[in-house]
Amino acid sequence: MKQGTYVCPYCGANISTRELAKTHVKQVHRDKIQELLLKISKRRLRNLTNKGVNPEEWAAGYIVAMFYSKVDSTF
Ligand SMILES: [Zn+2]
Repeated sequence: MKQGTYVCPYCGANISTRELAKTHVKQVHRDKIQELLLKISKRRLRNLTNKGVNPEEWAAGYIVAMFYSKVDSTF
């Protein structure tokens, strides 16, 4: 069974898993994380921190869920 890949919307890189996609965002597209964290409200940010969630981790997951397209490689 072939696994699909995630395609990075910013640089077009093919990434095999969601976890690696998150790592990719954190390493290569840190500016996008900062951009997203600036867009959400201070209150929401505080809520995340209160819940023990690392905001950067959250933002990376959000970006992957929202913008990365899962492509099934069926060749
Ligand atoms: Zn990328």
